[in-house]
Amino acid sequence: MINLKSFFVIISGVIISLSLSLFTTTYGDDGIDDPFAPYENGIPEGYKVIEGDILVPEVEKEGTFEATYWTNGIIPYQFDSNVNSTNRNRAIAAMGEWEAVANVDFIPRNGHGNYIHIQNSTKNNSEVGMKGGKQVINIVSWGSRFIIAHELSHALGCWHEQSRPDRDTFLTINTDRIKSGESHNFDKRNSADVYGEHDFDSVMHYGQCAFSDCSSCSSNASSCRTITVKAPWNSAWQNAIGQRNHLSDLDVLTMSFLYPENNWRFVNGSYPLAPRKSVFFFPQPGTFFFPAFTINHGVSVVPAGGTLIIQPGNYNETGSFSKAMSLRAPLGSVTIGG
Ligand SMILES: [Zn+2]
Repeated sequence: MINLKSFFVIISGVIISLSLSLFTTTYGDDGIDDPFAPYENGIPEGYKVIEGDILVPEVEKEGTFEATYWTNGIIPYQFDSNVNSTNRNRAIAAMGEWEAVANVDFIPRNGHGNYIHIQNSTKNNSEVGMKGGKQVINIVSWGSRFIIAHELSHALGCWHEQSRPDRDTFLTINTDRIKSGESHNFDKRNSADVYGEHDFDSVMHYGQCAFSDCSSCSSNASSCRTITVKAPWNSAWQNAIGQRNHLSDLDVLTMSFLYPENNWRFVNGSYPLAPRKSVFFFPQPGTFFFPAFTINHGVSVVPAGGTLIIQPGNYNETGSFSKAMSLRAPLGSVTIGG
């Protein structure tokens, strides 16, 4: 028997050790020089590139940018014949970065109808989420595991971090420095889900020189940059955004929630996430996108031995219950018991 009063003590400890921030189904661009490369090569007929490296159908309707996630976290892949064995192994290593942190499995295609087709190109880009049928991922930066991981993240359902609906709180987009015809790359995705606070460290964040009209932005960033980080975050992050050498804490956390373990359930007192406000289930199933509203309900839906993940909020609940489970408060800021 576990009493909620003792829960509070447990949760408080979790908060202290795990307090951090982050986000979302959002957003990206790739290699440092990629925004300047032409896109013609490798773009399937009927598709166009937005945000530097995201493939969308030419006729895609507005408001359809929410991702469809891969069924059961299984992502069948195949390589184009133009990808050599060295680069195939590099791509598989990038897949491993996500497999290590989320419940996803990239498997060689064996007759699967929905799959990614990875090909050698002059550009890095990908569609967002599972589109149905064959979907192309173009790669030129084979030597960068985390540029490939970035493109795979798009395919898994993530947009660019600086496309978050709330990005203007953290960033200034210097539209007068954006290369002619490229301003659409800095559009916000107002319908996108987000999780946690703006993640400057995300592998899905643009660098400060993305799509700059300066030919030498990297050496004149203060006057050429397209993205200025606002105070007080600028001192730490102005020159650090756009990294492509690791997954951030929030990249990891977010992907692990988009593709959770089977016995994970979620509680979110401030539910729902943005695009799903008009969708409710009764009772709530306790998934990431359709979480339980209360701790008690979350406890009722989590399988014995599973994990209950509690999102920030004040849960003014009392009671007691018995069930073996682990509790996580990955963003902290959780109060239980009033
Ligand atoms: Zn991208």
